[in-house]
Amino acid sequence: MSYAILCLLVLLGAFFFSSSYITVFYHRAFAHGSVTLGARTRRFAVLAGPWITGIDPKAWACMHRLHHRYPDQSRDPHSPANVGVAGVFLAQLRAYERILAGLIGGKRSYSAVVKDLDFPISWANRRQLWYLPYVVQIGVALALGFAFDVWLLAACFYAGLLAHPVQGWLVNSFGHASGYRTFDTPDDSRNNLPIALLVSGEGLQNNHHHDPDSARFSYRNWEPDPGYAVCRGLSRLGILSINKHAVDAPRVALLSAAGGRG
Ligand SMILES: [Zn+2]
Ligand SMILES: [Zn+2]
Repeated sequence: MSYAILCLLVLLGAFFFSSSYITVFYHRAFAHGSVTLGARTRRFAVLAGPWITGIDPKAWACMHRLHHRYPDQSRDPHSPANVGVAGVFLAQLRAYERILAGLIGGKRSYSAVVKDLDFPISWANRRQLWYLPYVVQIGVALALGFAFDVWLLAACFYAGLLAHPVQGWLVNSFGHASGYRTFDTPDDSRNNLPIALLVSGEGLQNNHHHDPDSARFSYRNWEPDPGYAVCRGLSRLGILSINKHAVDAPRVALLSAAGGRG
């Protein structure tokens, strides 16, 4: 295998690991409770999450719940209806920063949204050291580069692992601006297949907004939902349990959307 192909595989692998971590732990478990983590896994996901992804789980869950509460309305933290497709990239970063600062400062309008989450804002963020995980990741990448003289590979690892702002932008913009709609939800959500394939099923925004409590975002056999495949794998290993609703809801919803014809 050539070095360039190996670098590409490392980039894609790290990208997939990062998006799986966010979609399974932050999104499906913490924000919606559609999968339940075992106690040890939950502790690990909370403590390791900020160091692996660079993102605080509580602030992420708060921002995401606000997105569901006000989808494509003026108070949506990151809607292309408000700021355009390109503008979502900065809007989501600014909203995350604002919500993180609000939660640290005890602002009730934010803390009330995540009052059921029984873990604090991460250690680094509580000390205004939000950049520390990024510094650690750069350190790991530099150590890899020095130790094995694999600079491009180290850069690919770093870029893939900390790609969440790019993943978020793809989902939050195109998932609400481009694609087909299966359900007549009161928002602009779309199902975007390439984004779903690339970002762990998250591109199936229309399905997800129709039924946020379902751990499964794919409603048809050909809709890609790698994040749900990871959930099923972890469920077989006894690491998490998928709520029953996730298994039954997609088929029932699809039947009723098709007027009972299936
Ligand atoms: Zn959405
Ligand atoms: Zn959601």
